[in-house]
Amino acid sequence: MQKSAVSGAAATLRDLPSVDEVLRTADAGAITETIGAAAATRLARSVIDRMRNEIRDGGQTSGSSKGDLLTLAATRLVAASRSQNASRLGRVINATGVIVHTNLGRAPLSKDARRAIADEASAYCSLEYDLETGGRGKRGIGAERLLAELMGAGDSLIVNNCAAAAFFVLTVFGSGGEVVISRGELVEIGGDFRVPDVLAQSNATLSEVGTTNRTKLADYEKAIGAATRLLLRVHPSNYRIVGFTATPSLRELADLAHARGILLYEDLGSGALIDLTAYGIAGEPLVAASIAAGVDIVTFSGDKLLGGPQAGIIAGKRELIEKLRRHPLYRALRVDKLTLAALEATLGAYARGTAVDDVPIVRMIAMTKDELDGRAAAMAERLAVGARGNDLIVETIDGRSVIGGGAAPEALLETKLIAISHPTLSAAAIESRLRAASPPVIARIEDDRVLIDLRTVPETDEPELLAILSAL
Ligand SMILES: *Cc1c(COP(=O)(O)O)cnc(C)c1O
Repeated sequence: MQKSAVSGAAATLRDLPSVDEVLRTADAGAITETIGAAAATRLARSVIDRMRNEIRDGGQTSGSSKGDLLTLAATRLVAASRSQNASRLGRVINATGVIVHTNLGRAPLSKDARRAIADEASAYCSLEYDLETGGRGKRGIGAERLLAELMGAGDSLIVNNCAAAAFFVLTVFGSGGEVVISRGELVEIGGDFRVPDVLAQSNATLSEVGTTNRTKLADYEKAIGAATRLLLRVHPSNYRIVGFTATPSLRELADLAHARGILLYEDLGSGALIDLTAYGIAGEPLVAASIAAGVDIVTFSGDKLLGGPQAGIIAGKRELIEKLRRHPLYRALRVDKLTLAALEATLGAYARGTAVDDVPIVRMIAMTKDELDGRAAAMAERLAVGARGNDLIVETIDGRSVIGGGAAPEALLETKLIAISHPTLSAAAIESRLRAASPPVIARIEDDRVLIDLRTVPETDEPELLAILSAL
């Protein structure tokens, strides 16, 4: 018995296809064309190696015919190349209803921003070239001027992200001295951005004042000494203290800082350029309001509520921004031409007053419940027609979308969800099929149903999404 199993394995091993044979199959041809001969050979070799081990271990492969082995190897090669593909950066449909979804690249860019990247910045471009004088120009000047105008700030500077911006400001203006911050603002934003750690990295000493829920102006006043360089205000982002709370106004803090010859720096995180309270977003301060209150420097992200590319924006008094621009660290933190082109184009919409139509993030926030009701009902109806062939159970239910990205955790964004279930397939199985689709559809699961929120799906992606859902 044992002997025949061993000899069966030996016979199967002899029938195992060679790497070349696998590479000559039709499936392998298509893979070679996409990933190249060297990578396809590596994949085919690992597929064959695994099959050889399985046969030696007496697995199911043992005893298969030569033809079956070749077919199996080709199928596994396709699967291996597909799973390798899944780790590549690629477009997905975000059906989660989380608008600023950090794992899905935060803000989808506006049409203008995409065009600016593809048609302007991808060619030789006037990145640091002054077309009027024919001499060297200032990198980022277009976007930085627009930003300063939109916020009423003296000047602005663009760096890699808001974490870099905070680190830069604290290093240049706080290093070697003390930075005073309320205990209620020593927060972790997520993704490892912890205010006390950033301060430590910047070589500034943390001076904590007040309590978690209440900090008074007098607390700041008492803490200011000869070594104090900055008062720091941090927007708690995805965290809220409610109830018995108190904190001085920005204007009070600015007046105090200036009377004592130090600076007030505010890390806003999200930084709204336009008022979003009409759309249910409360508690996200306007950047312009901080500047108007007398804050010397503010920092915020380019890819949160602003809806542009990843970037950190520093804005404030002209001479302070100029000091940062001339600092050697700027060279290490500055952004590339693609980012600047996308940011400048995104800001153009704010300058024209058309952000609600043109900037996807703002458009999604502003989308009304009525609009979403209509879109969800129309898609559910079409799905139900197609579902006769696949037993899907399709309903529409009320729900909530969220801002995400650490902004406005209390925002109430009413939406209409498409809830999908199946008599035999679990929600997890449906969700995993959606993730394997092309493009992948990312959805959430609740009460063993897959939920689709169209708020984060551009209308132009609806036919594609409908086709994927119909084919489940
Ligand atoms: C999000 C956030 C950051 C980090 O911003 P990135 O652009 O992700 O680097 C820093 N500070 C605050 C208050 C934030 O909300």
